[in-house]
Amino acid sequence: MNARPDTRAFSGTVSAREVLGDHLVRITLTGIDGFASTGVPDEWVALTVPGQFQTRYYTVRSWVEDALVLDVVIHDAGLVTEWAQTDCVGDVVGLSAPKGSFDLPLDAQWVVLVGDLTGLPAITRIGETLDLPVRAYVETPDHPLSGYTDLPITWVDAPGAEQSGLAEFVRGLEWPDGAGYFWMAGESAQMRDIRRHVRQDLGWASTAYDVMGYWSGSRGRQRRAVDPGPIYAAGKAAGKSDEQIWDDYDKARGAQSEGRT
Ligand SMILES: Cc1cc2nc3c(=O)[nH]c(=O)nc-3n(C[C@H](O)[C@H](O)[C@H](O)COP(=O)(O)OP(=O)(O)OC[C@H]3O[C@@H](n4cnc5c(N)ncnc54)[C@H](O)[C@@H]3O)c2cc1C
Repeated sequence: MNARPDTRAFSGTVSAREVLGDHLVRITLTGIDGFASTGVPDEWVALTVPGQFQTRYYTVRSWVEDALVLDVVIHDAGLVTEWAQTDCVGDVVGLSAPKGSFDLPLDAQWVVLVGDLTGLPAITRIGETLDLPVRAYVETPDHPLSGYTDLPITWVDAPGAEQSGLAEFVRGLEWPDGAGYFWMAGESAQMRDIRRHVRQDLGWASTAYDVMGYWSGSRGRQRRAVDPGPIYAAGKAAGKSDEQIWDDYDKARGAQSEGRT
């Protein structure tokens, strides 16, 4: 019997805003009554900023002593991007209950983590919680972010501002021997390509990887975000693998950008 999706909504107050890099701002939220982490290290929440009804998804970088930390990537334009650049301390925001997708197989002897800057919070949190050999690669449009984490990260240059070359990068990776787990997040078209690569070229079982589209470079500004929560819950209820669920999610986002939903 599958658990019902947690549809609770929360609110929190911005208690701190810190600039971590040219394209990264840390937002700390407090006063979130009833919130609890799932413990899944790539868990995310849907964030609604003041004056908006649309949501955007952000990884729970940490939830410690009733303070929720989100690291927000600053793009050329964007709803949360614009808000996060303002003096937002004191603002009240909306939050969904957290959900996570990372699902380490019992026999995994290593973990490889890859993402662009939007995947950095999850990559770091995953890497910091694991007791296995971890290789972490993060694509950045800037110089490496010093002091962000003690986790050793290999920084990969982005091909340009607002662009990602991660699919090509992953195709060139040498994988550790033995059973392991590959987690990746970034631009949706690149993630679709990599899912095909690991499934068809490498022949991996779907339980050996989790590849998620975090944003779409082709669709321009989002008119309405597609909530991954219900898609994830429906997929789990239908017995689908994470890979099938993220495929469904990418299709829903693609349909939306083409005006089909
Ligand atoms: C499960 C999940 C977890 C996520 N965790 C994080 C996180 O911890 N931190 C984080 O910053 N983001 C995270 N994201 C990605 C984030 O939700 C999107 O990047 C979102 O679109 C940003 O919202 P915005 O309002 O700033 O820009 P939007 O209004 O959504 O988009 C404005 C423009 O920016 C472009 N754009 C959006 N994202 C990117 C990008 N990453 N790179 C280049 N161009 C982009 C769009 O294509 C559009 O042209 C996550 C997404 C998911 C699904």
